Amino acid sequence: MKRPVIGLVPLVDIQRESYWMLPGYMDGVAEAGGLPIMLPLTDEEEQIGQLMALCDGFLFTGGQDVSPSLYGKEKDAACGECCRQRDAMEVQLLNAALRHDKPIFGICRGIQFINAALGGTLYQDLPSQHPSKVEHHQRPPYDVPVHTVTPLPSTPLAALLGDGPFAVNSYHHQAVKTLAPAWSAMAIAPDGIIEAAYLPDRRFVWAVQWHPEFSFRVDENSRKLFHAFVRAAEEGTGPAL
Ligand code: MN
Repeated sequence: MKRPVIGLVPLVDIQRESYWMLPGYMDGVAEAGGLPIMLPLTDEEEQIGQLMALCDGFLFTGGQDVSPSLYGKEKDAACGECCRQRDAMEVQLLNAALRHDKPIFGICRGIQFINAALGGTLYQDLPSQHPSKVEHHQRPPYDVPVHTVTPLPSTPLAALLGDGPFAVNSYHHQAVKTLAPAWSAMAIAPDGIIEAAYLPDRRFVWAVQWHPEFSFRVDENSRKLFHAFVRAAEEGTGPAL
């Protein structure tokens, strides 16, 4: 059986002038039955268009902080390094993938980026702007859960993983502040931070703030997320919207 092709947004090391990838993103997709490929870092319309034909789904990976200009704010002192090339690529990739109704899975920066691109805003630094007792920025090992999230009733996440709270790892200093109008929250941390969201008017546009790519080997919920994404990609795409 042919595996659905999942295009992964490359990680960028600005200092080393290199693109790279964490094996967990690729292995999580592969374990779920997909064929992961790392995409070129491009915002060129023609290449993005060709990627739509090549890929059955797209994984928006973790990485640098999203440029606050994307959501109409100035950069605060506590905001981390941004990556203009990734922002530029991901705007094009997201718009094209939404037009083609390609399944999308966002992780960490992924939920933040999609939220900002769809008209929401971000906390630029949780410890200073939303202090709480919840540990959002854990130390290694990263496959160990550090806080719970509670799925919201009647969301696809609750349908997949059940209604009850479950434990997740957490490695982020930014988060969704105001949710973009088009999408819906799917899971909340004990301090009220939105940790998962989806687009109700697309086949599969899900994003989580935690890191299933670090935990899928030891955590069944993480595997279920990758499986749900790859299964959606496998089901093929409809006509462009
Ligand atoms: Mn968290």
